[in-house]
Amino acid sequence: MSRPERPIISIYHDGSRSLEELTEQLLETSGLEEILPSNRESLIAIKPNLVVARPAYEGGTTHPEIVAGIIRYLARRDYRNIMIVEGSWVGDSTSQAFRVCGYEKLSKEYTVPLFDTQKDSSFTQDVDGYSVSLCSITESIDFLINVPLLKGHCQTRYTGALKNLKGLIPDSEKRRFHSRGLHEPIARLNQMLHQDCIVMDAICPDPTFEEGGDPSDMNRILFATDSVLIDSYGASVIGYTDEDIPYIGRSEELHVGSLWDGSRDSVLEINDHGEAGNYRQDERLSELETLIDEKEACSSCYAALISALRQIEEPEAHRYAIGRFFRTGQLPADRSNMVGIGVCTQRFSTSVAGCPPSSQDIVEFLKQLSRKG
Ligand code: SF4
Repeated sequence: MSRPERPIISIYHDGSRSLEELTEQLLETSGLEEILPSNRESLIAIKPNLVVARPAYEGGTTHPEIVAGIIRYLARRDYRNIMIVEGSWVGDSTSQAFRVCGYEKLSKEYTVPLFDTQKDSSFTQDVDGYSVSLCSITESIDFLINVPLLKGHCQTRYTGALKNLKGLIPDSEKRRFHSRGLHEPIARLNQMLHQDCIVMDAICPDPTFEEGGDPSDMNRILFATDSVLIDSYGASVIGYTDEDIPYIGRSEELHVGSLWDGSRDSVLEINDHGEAGNYRQDERLSELETLIDEKEACSSCYAALISALRQIEEPEAHRYAIGRFFRTGQLPADRSNMVGIGVCTQRFSTSVAGCPPSSQDIVEFLKQLSRKG
């Protein structure tokens, strides 16, 4: 395995400076200036992760202060054509996420527009016979700064730089990704869309769940120019190997980037604080998965189910069916004690309505079911 040209840079947040200042220090060290476009009018898109409308301290969304630090760094170098681009997951509103997560305020303060990809048109791109619908804005972006979190995901285990580009495809394509198994389309998307650099928020991400709710203090911001490298490293931080997250290895096969070789020489620590830490894998998730028959489920729907099952006392009392397949596909022969989740499962005799249903709706439904006994 060859050593990457540019290492990952990891800066430790000891609380002595603001996140804006820390981000600027990271970028000063990173050599980002060398790869920024020479034309100051170029459109620079900053892509945070605002999967849901929840504040960053809950561990599911990108800290706006990190994005502010990037904007300040760029503005000091006379880049003024900057845009924040994002589309929340299916079932959540990006404009609400912009407001709740502090991006409306940020937009006003720095006069940087917000672009909601859920309202954009789209076009189809084809590479080697594999097609993906992309939001039209992607054709106008000259330089893409991806600002994901290093966090867990209830379907793919880990989400970071590569998966964060799903915010640049229309909702219809997000649904199709699930029917295509998620890993291959995520890798193909990254073959089509190049991220010029990654500023990864590892301040207090949730290592188990993409929505957040159980944040873990990692107190770091990472920088890299290689999305495969930073994801290969990031997955290891929360206890996974490349084999556990197939889209990382597949992206490497498609020459999107290089896997991390496990060497500390590939990670430059600033404010050195030793190892990035060992954060827990979600063992409870593996147990809950054995109760679920999932076929082509949207992330928001699946996450709502997992969240609900964590909240109820005896999730093992039932089995659960979820996913678009069940709209028309063959139902399981043994449906005794099986609860359908979401409108796609309305052919089941017992199912929760909604598209997606909220975790609270699922909890209430299951509680009522157990009361009926
Ligand atoms: S009900 Fe079906 S379409 Fe709606 S969010 Fe759930 S899986 Fe997706």
